[in-house]
Amino acid sequence: MRVLEAKFVQGFMRMADDGWNQGWHERNGGNLTYRIKKEEAESIREELSEDGEWKEIGTAVPALAGEYFLVTGSGKYFRNVMSDPEDSIAVIELDDKGENYRICWGLVNGGRPTSELPSHLMNHEVKMQATGGKHRVIYHAHTTNVIALTFVLPLKDEVFTRELWEMATECPVVFPDGIGVVGWMVPGGREIAVATSELMKKYDVAVWAHHGMFCSGEDFDLTFGLMHTVEKSAEILVKMLSMRPDKLQTITAENFRDLAVDFKVELPERFLFEK
Ligand SMILES: [Zn+2]
Repeated sequence: MRVLEAKFVQGFMRMADDGWNQGWHERNGGNLTYRIKKEEAESIREELSEDGEWKEIGTAVPALAGEYFLVTGSGKYFRNVMSDPEDSIAVIELDDKGENYRICWGLVNGGRPTSELPSHLMNHEVKMQATGGKHRVIYHAHTTNVIALTFVLPLKDEVFTRELWEMATECPVVFPDGIGVVGWMVPGGREIAVATSELMKKYDVAVWAHHGMFCSGEDFDLTFGLMHTVEKSAEILVKMLSMRPDKLQTITAENFRDLAVDFKVELPERFLFEK
C-alpha cells in the first residue's frame, strides 16, 4: 500500500489540519507524532527506505527500540500537511538501542523530524509503559486560552485541574487524572523532555507555561478531543475572568464527588480541596 493511502496516515493528516483550523499552529508551531502499529508498518513496507542515515535522537528511549513513528517535520507548517504531506511529515524508524533514528519516508525536500522529538519519544515511552501499549499519539499545540491562563493562575497542577474541571461538566470525565504544569523552560531540549515525561507518568495532559500543551492518547480522535476539551474549558475560564474576577456560583467539590459516582470515574481527592 502507498503510505498516503494508509488509514493511519490519513487520520494523522486530518488531525494536523483540524489543529491548524483551530488556530493552534501559527507558522511552524506545534508537533504531532504517532507510534505506528506493527501491521500498519508492514502494510506500507514497499515505500519505506532503508538507506536513510542514522542520526542521534538526543536521548535514549530503549523501550521504543525498533518502533516506527509518523512525525511532523521541524520547521514545517501544520497548514501544509494536507496539501503537501511528503514535504511536511515523515515515517522514522528507531534503532535497536532506541538512541538513533532514520527517515524511511517523507520530508522529500530535506529536513528532520520535529525539534521536540526527544520530548515526544520520552512521552511515548512513559505512556506506552503506563497504558500497557494503548497510547500511541503525542500532540503538542499552541492553545491560545491555556497559554493566556499561565500568566494569571499559579502554575500548580491542583489549581489548573480544579479551575478547568469547574468550567465544563464534561471535564472531570474527560481528564479525571487531572493536568500537570511545568514552569517556563527552553523548548526542544532534554530538560523539558524529562520534566514533561515525569508529569506524563500521572497525567495525559501537560501544560507548558507561556508556550502550550502536550496531550497523550490512544488514537487521533481521543487525543485531539482531549486537547480540544481542555482548551475549550480554558476559553470559558478566560471569558469568565474577563466578566468578573470571582464566581457567583460553580460546580462544588461535593458536586464532583457525586459526578464521579454516576460516571464511574475516580477523581483524586487532592483536586477536591475546599476553597
Ligand atoms: Zn511549541
